[in-house]
Amino acid sequence: ERLVGASADGEDQAVEAALRPKDLGEFIGQEKVREQLDLVLRAARARGATADHVLLSGAPGLGKTTLSMIIAAEMGAPIRITSGPAIQHAGDLAAILSSLQEGEVLFLDEIHRMSRPAEEMLYMAMEDFRVDVIVGKGPGATAIPLELPPFTLVGATTRAGLLPPPLRDRFGFTAHMEFYEPAELERVIHRSANLLDVAIDTEGAAEIAGRSRGTPRIANRLLRRVRDYAQVKADGVINREIAGAALSVYEVDARGLDRLDRAVLEALLKLFGGGPVGLSTLAVAVGEERETVEEVAEPFLVREGLLARTPRGRVGTPAAWAHLGLVPPRQGAG
Ligand code: ATP
Repeated sequence: ERLVGASADGEDQAVEAALRPKDLGEFIGQEKVREQLDLVLRAARARGATADHVLLSGAPGLGKTTLSMIIAAEMGAPIRITSGPAIQHAGDLAAILSSLQEGEVLFLDEIHRMSRPAEEMLYMAMEDFRVDVIVGKGPGATAIPLELPPFTLVGATTRAGLLPPPLRDRFGFTAHMEFYEPAELERVIHRSANLLDVAIDTEGAAEIAGRSRGTPRIANRLLRRVRDYAQVKADGVINREIAGAALSVYEVDARGLDRLDRAVLEALLKLFGGGPVGLSTLAVAVGEERETVEEVAEPFLVREGLLARTPRGRVGTPAAWAHLGLVPPRQGAG
């Protein structure tokens, strides 16, 4: 697992429960989403109704699970958590749906990875609070209709565009979660430090925030590694110097690039003069698989404006030269 990876590792899972904001007021950033969701939930509460189905789209670690728990808490409802890949057969979904209580929130992570038959069952469940359970096989098969209590589906996906339109259309409200601004991540870090009883100053939090790739999960993980360093090498208090020194031990640089990201960028600039160079050639140069370079390193480099994918190959941007402290070759030279 990468220290700057956005998916949860074992340690994350163990501590995240303690760090999750419990209501909308405690949830940091995502102002628009919070405002809209607040209206949706207040209105449902005022009507004494179950909240509309909610679709949350956004990268891993931005707080989709947290928001689903907040929705349940704000509605005073229980929550059931499952994921698309865990539902392979329509029967798996029928079992879950038929055991929901009235008003319960069903959180379906990675909803785009559900099987087709389960997806079709979900359409009907979302719209009519009913499923047809198929009993038997072949010509003798019969559909037994099953009434469901009203529930709120909270679906999460990395990109809403991955969902088939009929599924997307059945959500009453779609929230797009954005990467967090450094100032927001600073607040996340101060809040977590408080809960973990870690002393940190403003500049220390800013230093960690700047390396957290816009992602609260990464911010919380980096905070824990910096805390270790501060305990062992200093008096436990995190300031800019300690945070910087700790994260350089873990090879997370000032912009949140790790060793792999930097290796890709360095090869691109130093060996290929900034490109364009083909993905396969670049991958061989850093001794990694094509997929690793393309799926693990590049998305963040592209997002940061350090690398561009062009029809002729990968190109390092002026910002990449500046970030690595290198001087680009003169235009037209060589
Ligand atoms: P995945 O898609 O991998 O399941 P996720 O989007 O569901 O990720 P969460 O598990 O909700 O992400 O959040 C990851 C961690 O980040 C949690 O520990 C949570 O406390 C923290 N976090 C996320 N969003 C916020 C926020 N807005 N304010 C404070 N902490 C947050």
